[in-house]
Amino acid sequence: MMRVLVIEDNPFNLELFQDLLEVAGHTVFTSMDAEAGIAQARQSLPDIIVMDIGLPGMDGLQAVRLLRQDDRTKGITVVAVTAHAMKEDGERVRAAGCDGYITKPVNTRTFVSDLEAHLADSQNPTQPAASADGESG
Ligand code: MN
Repeated sequence: MMRVLVIEDNPFNLELFQDLLEVAGHTVFTSMDAEAGIAQARQSLPDIIVMDIGLPGMDGLQAVRLLRQDDRTKGITVVAVTAHAMKEDGERVRAAGCDGYITKPVNTRTFVSDLEAHLADSQNPTQPAASADGESG
């Protein structure tokens, strides 16, 4: 099971994400702005952070940059939630330090499994081709 921090200022989305994750058996922490989210991340040290990009005050991309500068939080998997699906936005969230992103409106049937897949990917990065040789398993 994952320990998930959801940072999202929209109450409907926050409750939706929390419900989907808790029904799947995950533990959820929530924050509604970047400053509170960073503090919660330092305190809770979640496995994965769901980061809304459009937040009041400090936006989600700046929050990710700060998380990446802190030894306590720099290793946490961060998945951005963005209303924009343009390719350049995907590059922007990765440049800020996100491991991946999900576009709004989220697909409620795949939301949890998408996060699980992002976490698995970031914990088991694809091996370079050369290391695929040798023993199997
Ligand atoms: Mn928002």
